[in-house]
Amino acid sequence: MTDTLTPVLSASWGDERAWKLGNYERTGGYTALRSALQMAPEEVVGLVKDSGLRGRGGAGFPTGMKWSFVPKDNPNPTYLVVNADESEPGTCKDMPLMMATPHTLVEGVIISAYAIKASYAFIYVRGEVLHVVRRLQQAVREAYSAGYIGSNVLGSGYDLEVVVHAGAGAYICGEETALLDSLEGRRGQPRLRPPFPAVAGLYASPTVINNVESIASVPSIVANGADWFASMGTERSKGMTLYSLSGHVANPGQLEAPLGITLRQLLDLTGGMRAGHQLKFWTPGGSSTPILTPEHIDLPLDYEGMAAAGSMLGTKALQCFDETTSVVRSTLRWVEFYKHESCGKCTPCREGSWWLVQILMRLEAGQGVEGDIEKILDLCDNIGGRSFCALADGAVACVTSAIKHFREEFEAGMHTPAWELLPYERSTVF
Ligand code: NAD
Repeated sequence: MTDTLTPVLSASWGDERAWKLGNYERTGGYTALRSALQMAPEEVVGLVKDSGLRGRGGAGFPTGMKWSFVPKDNPNPTYLVVNADESEPGTCKDMPLMMATPHTLVEGVIISAYAIKASYAFIYVRGEVLHVVRRLQQAVREAYSAGYIGSNVLGSGYDLEVVVHAGAGAYICGEETALLDSLEGRRGQPRLRPPFPAVAGLYASPTVINNVESIASVPSIVANGADWFASMGTERSKGMTLYSLSGHVANPGQLEAPLGITLRQLLDLTGGMRAGHQLKFWTPGGSSTPILTPEHIDLPLDYEGMAAAGSMLGTKALQCFDETTSVVRSTLRWVEFYKHESCGKCTPCREGSWWLVQILMRLEAGQGVEGDIEKILDLCDNIGGRSFCALADGAVACVTSAIKHFREEFEAGMHTPAWELLPYERSTVF
């Protein structure tokens, strides 16, 4: 792992009015677009492939490879869609990026659309974050006025329209196929894959869907080269990335660091856990990723390291909980979230998440009955992997991992309320 901590994506987040086009251009903004337009689209795809950039939305699918799945001889138009529906609990990296430097994303959109030969690009933003929607709309307007978007981009002969679309505030619409349904004007519910969107997506046409951070990483790759990007991170998880640090830490917020850094290093850099308290458990990538314990604090935060620990890197949302937190209660809160956000299309997810909440509620109250833990595990077994999308998998990941690491707290739920097990009468978080 490289030891550089020089920020790339967040380099100008602290600058005054960094979101304005003029300020972005003064720090080299849109020069990567000019370079990309000098290249053939296939060359840009090759550059992103060589950089090793992996999708920053959670799954880590290689970005350049996804782009190359777009069929060459398809008569339908190709679309680019940016998934800006960030809603994974604990994840707050894309929203600050779009607020601070929206033109990084807009420039990435134009280069990426050019690379995949798309003439239409959509940025699908969470409906609740009106301030982000407005900031993006303003950035897109500025880019149109400057000739970066529209017909004949910078005199290159390439035409592109960019639309900022606000969702209506549903977690499921961050799932790429539900997002497409929502964008088409329907109720957002997942589609069965395959076909993957790269082959049949928006209006059944080839559609590349990438996360905000993935697309925003493209201009710096074009500007600095694939080798520069690949020199950061680990062997199979390349580049700098944005981590969201939250929970019982001294200084929550976003931090840009190479993939492969450890949680201990990140905590050392940010002042550690809040004074006088110790880490009890944490998530590497929001609540959809299995929880980990202090014994995993020195493992590399990359796709391979987290998989080896029985978890996933996911969205890199590091939620840190100290000894004042009940694992049973936090698991219940997370599952309540998934129950609420389940779109209801698949029975195991819709019904199973409801049943999980019922059992966890009585365990939290110290009124569990014999066999509850086995019942929970059996339910999880019948939910995970049995639905159209990953929401169900996420809903059970926090439960099974919590039982794996803290089974005694769930067993205590047969006779003792969760809050009586804590060093304080009430947890300060939940
Ligand atoms: P996935 O692994 O199924 O797919 C990842 C991406 O690769 C998708 O774009 C998919 O279309 C593409 N892909 C995979 N196989 C392909 C193939 N054979 N051909 C063409 N394209 C292919 O993951 P997913 O279900 O899309 O997403 C799950 C992830 O989402 C989880 O890891 C979770 O961390 C993350 N997540 C993120 C948020 C957020 O707010 N950012 C919220 C919830 C979940």
